[in-house]
Amino acid sequence: MKLDEFYSKEIFRKYGIPCPKEILVHSVEEGRERREEVGFPWVLKACVLVGGRGKAGGVRIVEKEEEFLSNLESLFNLTIKGLPVKKVLISEKVELEKELYLGIVLDRRLAKPILLASPFGGMDIEEIAQNKPKSIIKEAIDPLFGLFSYQCRKVYSQLFPEPSYLEQFSLLLQALVKVFFENEANLVEINPLVTTKEGKLFALDAKIILDDNARFRHPDWEEYEKAEEERELMAKREGLAYVQLDGEIGSIVNGAGLAMATLDLINKYGSRAANFLDIGGSSSPQKAKKALEIITQDEKVRVILVNIFGGITRCDDVAQGILEFLKSGRRKAEIPIVARLVGTNEKEAKEILKETPVIFLPTMKEAVQRASELVKGGG
Ligand code: GDP
Ligand code: MN
Repeated sequence: MKLDEFYSKEIFRKYGIPCPKEILVHSVEEGRERREEVGFPWVLKACVLVGGRGKAGGVRIVEKEEEFLSNLESLFNLTIKGLPVKKVLISEKVELEKELYLGIVLDRRLAKPILLASPFGGMDIEEIAQNKPKSIIKEAIDPLFGLFSYQCRKVYSQLFPEPSYLEQFSLLLQALVKVFFENEANLVEINPLVTTKEGKLFALDAKIILDDNARFRHPDWEEYEKAEEERELMAKREGLAYVQLDGEIGSIVNGAGLAMATLDLINKYGSRAANFLDIGGSSSPQKAKKALEIITQDEKVRVILVNIFGGITRCDDVAQGILEFLKSGRRKAEIPIVARLVGTNEKEAKEILKETPVIFLPTMKEAVQRASELVKGGG
C-alpha cells in the first residue's frame, strides 16, 4: 500500500526526520482559513498518489500572498495522471541549496533492503538511472544489524563534498532505516532531500510503500487504507489487483504474468497502459463488469483492451460481464473495447457479444496492435 506524502511525512517526523511544517487541506475554503498555520512563503502541493507532480503543474511556490488563492483554486481543478486533486498540502517554503536522492527498497535478488542514494535529487530515480547512472550509490543493508556506521560515512563521502552535514545525515539515515524496518515497508524514499543556506537537512518529499503481506500485524493501517485512492480500494474489495499507471490503454487480463506480457506488448506497439488490472484466476461475470467500471472511471483511458487466456477463468463469464457492463450504459461511446478471449468457452463468449460493438481479435498481438492504433486515432 502506497502512503501519500502527508502520511509518509507524519511517520518520518515521529522518527525525527526533519520535514518542513505543513498542513493538509481538502478545499479552497479550508486552505483560506488555515494558511496562517504555516509560515509564508508557501509551497502548495497536490496530494495525489503519483510521482512527478512538479512537472505536471502540481507543485506551486507562492511568493506573493495575493497569489495564494488563485494557485490553490487551480490546483483543486487539476487532474494529474488521471487522478483528480482532492487534497492539497500547504507547506512552508524551504530555501534550498542542493537536492539529493535517498531511498531504501527491497532487493529481491540480494534478499536484503538496499540503500540507494544520489547527489542528483529532484528527478525520479528512473530518470537518475538514465541520465546519471554512475551517480547512484548502492549499499546493501544487513537485515539483522541494520546499516553500519562505516556504510553511513561511505555514502556520506560520496554525496557531500563538505564534512559539516555528517552528523545530521547519519541521524537522518539511521532514522530512515528504522522507518523501513519498524513499519514493514517495501520502499521508503526522500526525494528530494535538501540542504539549506542555514546548513540544515530537510526531507521535502516523502514516499512510503507498506508491505501488504504484513497488514495483519498493523491494525493502525486502517487509517491509511481509508485514504487510499478510491479505484485501487474498490478493486481490492472485489478481489481484483489494480495498479494505476500513466497511459491511455485500460487493460483487463487474468493472471499477473499475462498482465506483464500485455504491458510489454502495449509498450512495444508504442502506446502506454493506463493500468494493470488482474481479474485473477476465478471466474464470474460480476468481476469482469466491476473491472470495466473501475477502468472507465480513469479519465485518461481511450481504449479498453480485454486480454483473457481462459482456463479456470471462463471466456463466457468475462463476455457476460462485458455485456452487462455495456447494457448498464456506463461505457462512454467513444471508448472502443478490443477483446482477445481464447481458451475455455471462447465460442460461447463470441456468441454472447456478437450484437455488440466489441472488436474481437484472435491473437494477443493483433489485439494490442489494434488497441494502439485506436489510441493514435487510426484503426
Ligand atoms: P514531485 O514532483 O511529485 O516529486 O514533488 P516534490 O515535492 O518532490 O517537489 C518537486 C520539486 O519542487 C522539488 O524537487 C523542488 O525542486 C521543488 N520544491 C518543492 N518544495 C520546495 C520548497 O519548499 N522550496 C523550494 N525552493 N523548492 C521546492
Ligand atoms: Mn519528489
